[in-house]
Amino acid sequence: MKTMKVTVVTPDGPVHESEAEMVSTRATSGELGILPGHIPLVAPLEIGAVRLKNGNKTQWIAVSGGFLEVRPDRVTILAQAAERAEDIDIERAQAAKERAERRLRQENMDNKRAELALKRAVNRINIYKHK
Ligand code: ATP
Repeated sequence: MKTMKVTVVTPDGPVHESEAEMVSTRATSGELGILPGHIPLVAPLEIGAVRLKNGNKTQWIAVSGGFLEVRPDRVTILAQAAERAEDIDIERAQAAKERAERRLRQENMDNKRAELALKRAVNRINIYKHK
């Protein structure tokens, strides 16, 4: 199988670099499945999962929004925050989820901010299951 080089970068530095036969993720416009040789593309990403398939192995990465840049031989993901499944601190994500849920129950709180924090926490909890 042909592969492409995948790099995941955040403002704190690189989070992951590997070869992959396929990159799957959700852009704001819908699900994307990228294979080597794909036409150049830039797409904004949702809070969600990036899945890198190589052979019978799949690496799961949590991303908290950002951009995906595709070139025929490489995919670069520029994310606000990103964690590989095995690097997720599950207790921290669970605490963040409870904190966000508590905030959403209080009427005078900034709901949009709490909703996004909840989305990030739930995403991390889901992706941790694939470590
Ligand atoms: P928290 O309230 O726990 O800080 P958050 O969603 O507000 O969660 P972010 O602002 O998205 O956190 O991320 C801040 C930094 O902490 C980033 O580098 C991110 O990768 C890291 N991070 C956040 N939550 C986790 C987690 N559960 N496990 C590992 N790293 C995390």
